[in-house]
Amino acid sequence: MRSLLELDESQLVAWLQEQGEPRYRAAQIRRWVFERRAEDFESMNDLPKSLRARLAEHFVLWQGEIDVHSRATDGTEKLLLKWPSGAKIECVLIREGDRRTICISSQVGCAMGCVFCASGLDGVERNLSHAEIVEQMLRLQRLLPADERLSHIVVMGMGEPLANLDNVLVALREANAKTGLDISARRITISTVGLPPALRRLTQEEPRYHLAVSLHAPNDALRSEIVPVNRKIGIEAVMEAADEYFEASGRRLTFEYVLLGQLNDSPQHARELAALLRGRTALLNVIPYNPVAGLPYKTPSPEAIDRFRGELEQRGINVQFRQRKGDEINAACGQLRRATQGTIPSKGTVPSKSTVPLSRPTTES
Ligand code: SAH
Repeated sequence: MRSLLELDESQLVAWLQEQGEPRYRAAQIRRWVFERRAEDFESMNDLPKSLRARLAEHFVLWQGEIDVHSRATDGTEKLLLKWPSGAKIECVLIREGDRRTICISSQVGCAMGCVFCASGLDGVERNLSHAEIVEQMLRLQRLLPADERLSHIVVMGMGEPLANLDNVLVALREANAKTGLDISARRITISTVGLPPALRRLTQEEPRYHLAVSLHAPNDALRSEIVPVNRKIGIEAVMEAADEYFEASGRRLTFEYVLLGQLNDSPQHARELAALLRGRTALLNVIPYNPVAGLPYKTPSPEAIDRFRGELEQRGINVQFRQRKGDEINAACGQLRRATQGTIPSKGTVPSKSTVPLSRPTTES
């Protein structure tokens, strides 16, 4: 059945008019969905009973079901959502001080093939619809107590958002809308490997969001090895499209660099990276690799991380070393889905004092 989340405000107004209902019902319904966190149509108790019944006849509120819900001791919570087709995706709620950030997926799987990432190991299955993307936001919002709000969104879950730009943009408009989640566009981050044509479209159409570009290497030879899609693109084209986005948005860019032990973590790599970023208004986000079961890549040693940081700081690069969150629940991209494939996932909510819902396939120092 159709999800109510497929309808934006004007489409909902149109549907209500077809039903002979006044248009103000749309605002009421959207308040229930986005603000009052309704579980179902029945609970929307300021709507006439007949309208609630008709909504339930025509729509569902949730298309997916929660397959696994896990919570780490640092407050990070992760949902594995299963769609009727059986496809599964992950989304995460991260608590950091006052921030309540959600990390959402844009595709089932991923076609980019980044060699270290769990999400792309089996390629891409399909794009998520905008309703499925919005559903992740609402499901995660429901994990918060009533007096807490979502503050930030990062599209950094499974998939490449620029390969599903239409649906991502519709979903983010709902996140941003006053009558939606009302989250300011500068608190919404689109993270991408950098697909220049799609990035240009974003620049032209909606340069409102914060952009993060996953770089992972300072030169084409290494980047093409780590991010295979780079073979057809090249760093120069990515940087050019990113610069254009910066010009149009006026928002500082973020470059992401997953630090992989003995692969892209040498002082020489840091120097090359500093040269690449010099002169750009950008933040470099260095993320120590989060090991994925079955992959040979390693988290760099603390010494290598320090050396890498030192080289960048010496050269005046604005760099941040990101703390990993939710390691114990496989919160990095695509890991939970993998951990449950071929095993029987534990169902339902795990009590918050418990840390790991599943046997963890990777060990970490
Ligand atoms: N396809 C988009 C968004 C999804 S990945 C992109 O590439 O940006 C989001 C970020 O998580 C990327 O920077 C990616 O490189 C990083 N990532 C993926 N797997 C990781 C892992 N195992 N450890 C650390 N970072 C990882």
